Amino acid sequence: MRNLEESFSRSFSYSNLVWCTSLEFMDFGWNGFLLQIPREARLVSEGGNARSGYMRLETENYFFEVKWEEAQQKKVKPLSEVVEAFIKKLEKDTKQKIPVRGRRKTNVSGHDTLVLSLKSAMEERIYFWYCEESLRITILRCVFKLIDTNSRTIIRQIVASFKCHGGESNLWTPPQSIFRAPSNFQLTERKMMIGRTYLLLLEHKVAPFTERRREIFFEYNSMASIRFEDEYKDPNKWVEKRYLKDLKKRYRGIKFHATAEEKINGHTAIIKEGSARTGLTTRKSSLYANATWYCEDLNRIYSVTTSEHVARPWPLKRKMDEKTFEEFSREFLSTIKCH
Ligand SMILES: [Zn+2]
Ligand SMILES: [Zn+2]
Repeated sequence: MRNLEESFSRSFSYSNLVWCTSLEFMDFGWNGFLLQIPREARLVSEGGNARSGYMRLETENYFFEVKWEEAQQKKVKPLSEVVEAFIKKLEKDTKQKIPVRGRRKTNVSGHDTLVLSLKSAMEERIYFWYCEESLRITILRCVFKLIDTNSRTIIRQIVASFKCHGGESNLWTPPQSIFRAPSNFQLTERKMMIGRTYLLLLEHKVAPFTERRREIFFEYNSMASIRFEDEYKDPNKWVEKRYLKDLKKRYRGIKFHATAEEKINGHTAIIKEGSARTGLTTRKSSLYANATWYCEDLNRIYSVTTSEHVARPWPLKRKMDEKTFEEFSREFLSTIKCH
């Protein structure tokens, strides 16, 4: 009897556990999209930028993909055309005829949306819509081994939470971190590897005889206590010994002239301010702010560099607004959650 009770309670709590772990959701933000994904899902590949690109999130049992493409209002293809092209491509890739089981209409993020149910080797639900706010045609593809209560709940949550436009700032969620950046900053460079991850977001403005750029360079190094045994507890030392050389390759002429301490997400960060002047015929002035800290929770060293660059042909004067830049840097740092 006891055994039976025990095994019952074990199987009961087990199924409870599965229920809890598989259906816990978290915010995921990338390239101006914001949605809730199951906590177990991992971003395994991505490319492009806010205008056109793709991303794929995976677990052991299912995956979902988002693909988007810029479409100016007057040149938007009808969704039916997008759908046909998608099926054709899928049939070409899988070298088999893909039967469409169902077509229906719904609404995603306020947009009229077409949904296809497909049976490839897996069960697929594919959503197609055009966002007239962000001027993107978006395809959301959810692929499961089978459609059951669990998968239905997951699809429902992803679709209901999906936002493709709006807001002056975008949420970005590189693995286990969060930050917000103004929505006109574009992802232009990234590396996501074991050990080191960075994202470069860029805002570019060109006016007659002036080129103005602001950058956010967000980076973290994992396994810090092992890899930087002597420096990981002292961010200042880490920057000097391990990082400055790399930073100088990216930002030519960078020189730091002031250092302070500040709290970021509960950690003590070292803040360095700096500047640079380069170029002969086209002269460039730059302002920099670097914040570096050790996050014990994830054993990572974070190093975030914001910068502003103004380039003008000589002898035109380059005006930099240090106060506005400082506010921008400070505001950006305040959005970061590192763990
Ligand atoms: Zn939208
Ligand atoms: Zn942290």
